Amino acid sequence: MDKIIIEARVNELASRRGNPHVPFLPGEIIADAVACAEEGASIVHFHGRTSDGAPNHDPAFYLETNAGIRARSDILIHPTLGYVANDTDAKGRFAAIEEMMKSAETAPDFAPMDTGSVNVDWWNPEEGGYDTTELIYKNSTGTLMYFAERIRHYGLTPYLVSWNVSFTRQIEQFLKMGVLPQPAYICFCMTDEIIFAGHPGTAKGLDAHTAFLPEGFDTVWTVVNYKGDLFDLTEKIIREGGHISIGLGDYAYTDGGRNLTNAEVIAKVVAQARAMGREPASVAETRKILNMPDKRIAA
Ligand code: ZN
Repeated sequence: MDKIIIEARVNELASRRGNPHVPFLPGEIIADAVACAEEGASIVHFHGRTSDGAPNHDPAFYLETNAGIRARSDILIHPTLGYVANDTDAKGRFAAIEEMMKSAETAPDFAPMDTGSVNVDWWNPEEGGYDTTELIYKNSTGTLMYFAERIRHYGLTPYLVSWNVSFTRQIEQFLKMGVLPQPAYICFCMTDEIIFAGHPGTAKGLDAHTAFLPEGFDTVWTVVNYKGDLFDLTEKIIREGGHISIGLGDYAYTDGGRNLTNAEVIAKVVAQARAMGREPASVAETRKILNMPDKRIAA
């Protein structure tokens, strides 16, 4: 079977209360990216954070971190556009990536497009109610077409995030329009426990996603479980030819009560995939599977 693309999702907005190994600052993220690459990850995804863990979407954070990763590893870089950034327009949301594209040392390999809109309020299981009630992750069709145009302009690879079937259906229309390249790299973002915008992180939830992969188009799919344990599904994903995106950003992974590091989470996925006959894809192999340029994009 095909090699498996493993992406390390090192921090998102995860707190250290669940697992103290969540990296926040550039030096910590760079060290984790290098360690995860050594274990077999070929893509790294991270969010800018301050030393106390607050979100920090200053482009300078990404320039420093991307350059630091580039200097030490060839791991592919998948940046963020921020989280639920509805306070600005499409151009504003893409501004940090425009800054990163000014130099080959800081240019990423992917740019994300979440191809629809959802309510992303936080559920509080202890209280049995919502902590927030107005959080909408809004990605209008016009915004997405703007992102697709900029991504194409720079020769980046779109990282297409599908939270539910309607997102996948929008990807299909974009493929029909020719605004997305093939293969389309689609990340099924499942959500568990404290956020319900995606499918449940269960076999049924995943089957409901893969059943609607656009027919007649070349697609490659990976799976995230945001706020849930993806190891409940890794065997199924590996068996069905999918790819895996996982890390402490999504879930406070432990093993026998011990907090795992991001690199240990990646090592666990690699061991399971190998035992099932799928070797981790190297960076070069990942580029080939996703039809990416052989070399890093020069700005
Ligand atoms: Zn993210």
